[in-house]
Order: sequence, then structure tokens, then C-alpha cells
Amino acid sequence: MENNKEKSPAELLTEKLLSDKKNGVLRISGEELDAADKFCEDYKYFLDKAKTEREAVSLSTAMAEKAGFERFEEGKKYSAGDKFYFVNRDKAVILTVMGKKDLGSGIRLAAAHIDSPRLDLKQNPLYEDKELCLFKTHYYGGIKKYQWTTVPMSLHGVIVKSNGEKITVNIGEDPEDPVFCVTDLLPHLADAQMKRPAPQLVKGEELNLLIGSRPFKDDKISNKVKLSIMAILNEKYDIVEDDFISAELEAVPAFKARDIGFDRSMVGSYGQDDRVCAYTALKAILDCKDPENTCMTVLTDKEETGSDGNTGLNSSYLPYFISNLAAVYGLEGRNVMSASECLSADVNAAVDPTFSEPFEIRNASQINYGVVATKFTGSRGKSGTSDASAEFVGRIRRLFDKNNVIWQTGELGKVDGGGGGTVAQYIANLDLDVIDVGVPVLSMHAPFEVTSKLDTYMAYKAFSVFFAD
Ligand code: MN
Ligand code: MN
Repeated sequence: MENNKEKSPAELLTEKLLSDKKNGVLRISGEELDAADKFCEDYKYFLDKAKTEREAVSLSTAMAEKAGFERFEEGKKYSAGDKFYFVNRDKAVILTVMGKKDLGSGIRLAAAHIDSPRLDLKQNPLYEDKELCLFKTHYYGGIKKYQWTTVPMSLHGVIVKSNGEKITVNIGEDPEDPVFCVTDLLPHLADAQMKRPAPQLVKGEELNLLIGSRPFKDDKISNKVKLSIMAILNEKYDIVEDDFISAELEAVPAFKARDIGFDRSMVGSYGQDDRVCAYTALKAILDCKDPENTCMTVLTDKEETGSDGNTGLNSSYLPYFISNLAAVYGLEGRNVMSASECLSADVNAAVDPTFSEPFEIRNASQINYGVVATKFTGSRGKSGTSDASAEFVGRIRRLFDKNNVIWQTGELGKVDGGGGGTVAQYIANLDLDVIDVGVPVLSMHAPFEVTSKLDTYMAYKAFSVFFAD
């Protein structure tokens, strides 16, 4: 309600000069909030069906084909409006919509990652101890290891047999499936464990996955439980123990994405870093119609381990792809990249009311304040970062404001309080203009991460207006 009384000069000057941060819920219409809630119903489905990079690639390409995208053909001359996708080793995908303008005028790129922290099986994982059967694991990404015990886990991935045949594994997601778990010590006997420093409260070699307990009924052999589990695996997947050597099996939390709060305003799920940006960037490219510039969404692997490896963005698969596309039009890939802009679509840390100390509140991102634009990440004196230029931040600021995108700025914690990075630096190193734009997350890298539906929808809107601009 507007106050009829005349405003004082100080009030008017405050309005004119000072920043006025407001909760996004107070800034958007009821209809748009409903649209955000509706948008997140499909998002939750994506979270449940795409828990690993391989599953995210196969679901994304299926959604893309439904939206009229075709598999990329090297050397083909595509025209404005053509839509296609390129898959890298089943773990990363680049989706493209050709623009009306010449490719030389640059690409609008959104880059998100589809790998998340988890427990990978080791190459010799299977063993029996105290007549229980377990898998040895090696954690992937940065985790607080104690959070990953006593959580129901499912197994996802592939096993390549000695004859080259590839078996796909997904067990623990169907309500009829069994699940697995890492055990932890009862508090009654944990006196010594509880005195360990937190990083060693549960040690890496203690993240062993419980997978069976019934021995084979035969006195002639030892390791009877191991044999009976291997017999079950052999029956189900037609594999032998040595086949684990050429397998990639990932243990992830088995629970489903859920609404959080009496108001259902948030989503809780495994893997929202960075599927919240992967899904929104994917939806934005699938919905992208007749753009001026060519638009691309890349969903990449290996961000959580530093982006190295041939499916990570510190490798050459993205510049090679752009160069191959450019060559068809007689252009140099590097010139196309130099003219291009990128939103590095990754999450930021939302202020946690219970653990607010590490945040610098004037610059931290908050739940429901919209999508976060993060000028720089890194640690210490801005080490290991791409620091977006004032010019590019200014351009993105104008773009979001013009299109009523609810957005906020963010910085990852207090100076010298820790830090982290994204793929932004690797893309910036290719000579593109890049800024991090993503969703604030609570409990990041935990088995159950929290986002706001409003912020998620605003990320979709941000990527969409970037493509349409
Ligand atoms: Mn991330
Ligand atoms: Mn992460």
C-alpha cells in the first residue's frame, strides 16, 4: 500500500541513491510464483532420473530429440533454426540452436556440469569381512565424509565385460529394488571415534558399502558371503569379479527429490549442484526459438574433480567442437570463441541461518533472492578464478533488469574463509567473456541439498533471455 503522506527529502534520496534488496517473493506476481512451482515439478523428475553424468546425458538427449534436436553430423552446413546435439563419450553433451546471424558474430553459451559428489567403486571393490560383504569405494568430489554414512544408496553406471559388452547398472531407485549403505559406529562405542578431528571422523577407507550377508552353504570354501553375492551378480548381470576392473559404478543417495517446507517453496534432493543449473540451461536451449546468435548449452562432466580429463571443460572437446562447426562456414574457431559470451551455470552457497558465520552477509547470496551472478570465485587473493569484467557484468545486469529476471550478486564466503571454483576460468581461458550465473544452494555437496523454486525458475529465465538477446 502506497503511503499518501508526502515523502521526506531523505526518503526520496534514499529511494534514488541507495540499493534496496528485497526478497524475490515480494517482487514477483502470484502467477509467476505459480509458474516457478510448476516448473519445478519437471525439475524433480529430472533429478530422480538423472543422478549421474551418464544418465543426465541420456535423459537430456532424449528430451532434446523430443524437442526436434538431431544428432550432430560433422561437416554438415546447418542453417538458422537448426537444432542438434553432440555427445562426448556418453558423459557430456553440447546442444546447439543455430542463429540467424553469422557464426562469426559469436555464440551465446551456457555451461553447467552434470557430475556430482558421490562414492565411486574401486577397481577391486568386492570383499568379505566378519561374514559381511562390502564394496570398497573412493569418494568423488569434495565431501564431508561423515554425511555419507547410514544413507540409503543406489548404484549406477556401466560394466564393460572382457568380451567388450557393456552392461548398464541402475539398482536402488525402483521402490522394489534393494539399496545399500555405509555403516557407522553406535554412539555407545564411539568414544575414540568422536575424538577424531572432523575430516577424519569417518575416514576415506571407512566408506565401505554394505551389500550382503548370507553365506553360500558349502563348508569347502572361505569367503562364502562374497561368493554368494558374486553368484547373484553373475546371474543378474552375467559378470565375474574381474569385470569390476573395467567398470564405472557410482553409489549415490537413493532417495527421491522432495518439496521442502510447509509452503513447499524449496526442493530437497541429491545432486542439485549442479543439476539445478544443468536442467534450467537444458530447458532454456530446448525452448530456444529462432535466436539471433547461435546458442549452445554444454552439460559437462568432471567439474567436481577440477575439470581435468577428456570429458571435463579443462580439456579441448568444447573448442574442438566449435572449431569443427566454424570450419564448415570458413571461419576460425578461435575467432568465433573470441566473439562469444558465456554464462557459467553453476550454483553458489546460500546463507545458512544456522551457520552464517562463514558468510559475508553484504555479498552472500540468499534463498529466494533470485538467480545469483557471481563476478569471481576462487580463493585467497582471487586465486584460480575468472574475474568477469565490469563491462560484461554491466551487460548481464542490463539484460536481466530489462527482462525482469529476479537476480542477486554473490560471493563464496568471507575473504580467506575457504573458496572454490567453477568451469568459468577454463572457458574464459578460451577468450570468451564469462560470468557465473546460478542458483543458491543450502547444504551444498551433502547427500540432500536444498534450493528455492523461485531461484530455480529465475535461472531458467536468465538463460532464456540470454539466448533470446
Ligand atoms: Mn557446481
Ligand atoms: Mn560442487
